[in-house]
Amino acid sequence: MANIYLPDIAIIENIIQETSDTKTFVLKLKTFKSQKAFKFKQGQFVEVSVFGAGEIPIGISSNPSNKERFEITVRAVGSVSNALHKKKVGDEIGIRGPFGNSFPFDEMKGKDILIIGGGIGLPPLRSLILPILDNRNDFGKFTILYGARTPGDRVYKNLLNEWNKNDEVEFLETVDVSSNGWTGNVGVVTTLFEKIEINPHNTAAYTCGPPIMIKFVIQELLQMGLPEDKVISTLERYMK
Ligand SMILES: Cc1cc2nc3c(=O)[nH]c(=O)nc-3n(C[C@H](O)[C@H](O)[C@H](O)COP(=O)(O)OP(=O)(O)OC[C@H]3O[C@@H](n4cnc5c(N)ncnc54)[C@H](O)[C@@H]3O)c2cc1C
Repeated sequence: MANIYLPDIAIIENIIQETSDTKTFVLKLKTFKSQKAFKFKQGQFVEVSVFGAGEIPIGISSNPSNKERFEITVRAVGSVSNALHKKKVGDEIGIRGPFGNSFPFDEMKGKDILIIGGGIGLPPLRSLILPILDNRNDFGKFTILYGARTPGDRVYKNLLNEWNKNDEVEFLETVDVSSNGWTGNVGVVTTLFEKIEINPHNTAAYTCGPPIMIKFVIQELLQMGLPEDKVISTLERYMK
């Protein structure tokens, strides 16, 4: 049996600077066999090793249907994530996993979908949003709410623009603090709830973000009448 504590080696194929402190790393496992065997579901995470620095859990942010490579989006907050940010295209890192429960997908077919992301909580949700868009006809109304601290802290800016123009998804975003040129909503993400209409009896909601945001989002969703088992959230607390 393979040793689950031994990481596979991944090559960094590309690095996208999302914000001043957040980068997306496009990864491919070094051996064809490992990459072929690497299958994940929306919402799962990997343990990422930066050799000599340590190992951290990071959600997979890409579409599970892409079998060739996968992506993680990482905010530099401490020792390992900063060491990862110093890596260059072509460098090697370690990957264990995938681990964790996935976001229910097939079970929610036919339902309206509401996704609420805050800050760096959007990346794990992207692994769910992309397959929903790929299978758009399998779901009802699709709404995405995204809140970031400032306009500059918004990740995936190109993708957000695409969602803005896409008639198949209702996309609303807000920032806590506005800055030059921002003409959109200002306020915490829950202020967007008054701008949307949801049917609580046929909606599944998924949320990921800072714990304080998740707390208020869940409170409001339950007040709107969503049943507890249709409110799905992640727990992205520090763990070793
Ligand atoms: C399942 C899961 C999925 C995740 N997905 C993502 C993701 O997709 N993207 C992402 O960016 N992050 C994600 N995270 C969070 C990520 O794992 C952490 O940001 C990372 O582990 C931080 O490690 P570090 O070594 O860089 O920081 P550390 O050096 O461990 O520091 C982390 C934070 O803790 C503070 N800190 C450190 N030591 C102490 C101390 N002794 N006392 C008090 N505070 C301290 C630091 O100042 C810093 O703010 C996820 C976490 C989990 C559990």
